[in-house]
Amino acid sequence: MELPKFKYHPNPLATGAISESTEVCECCEKARGYIYTASFYSAEEVEAICPWCIADGSAAEKYDGSFSDEYPLMESGISEEVTEEVCKRTPGFISWQQEIWQCHCGAPCEFHGDAEKQDIEELSGSTLESFLSTNMVKPEYWVGILQHYEKAGNPAVYKFKCIKCGEVIFSMDFT
Ligand SMILES: [Zn+2]
Ligand SMILES: [Zn+2]
Repeated sequence: MELPKFKYHPNPLATGAISESTEVCECCEKARGYIYTASFYSAEEVEAICPWCIADGSAAEKYDGSFSDEYPLMESGISEEVTEEVCKRTPGFISWQQEIWQCHCGAPCEFHGDAEKQDIEELSGSTLESFLSTNMVKPEYWVGILQHYEKAGNPAVYKFKCIKCGEVIFSMDFT
């Protein structure tokens, strides 16, 4: 069965947000071959959600929950409708602190998971400067961070891509 399409999280198998599983989805009570593995915020304890119940909004509605924090999107001036698509109908990701969905050109970016080491090694000049200042990292620490960087490590670096201009944006998160 083909997975639903997620505009802002185009390859959730690659990012690890969805994985193959025989588990039964609590929302639709079916085992559909895939299960969601990243964050879900709800007052209820929900163990297993399938990608289809994410895509059609039924899991978010049933459990009055969300997959990502709405606040950073609203702060970036994203409309309520689009914010809802990202937070209620798009797989989220796991982060150390509250995740911040990146925006660019007035739209939420596509999420592409943990950056490859090579991705961040290639950062330089003004791109690197603004990345470090946005993430409040002192430039003198950058070499050490690079040396020890591992995907899904601490700090984590997430890769986003602007859906309008294609610019790649990295965000950093650490404990
Ligand atoms: Zn389901
Ligand atoms: Zn852009």
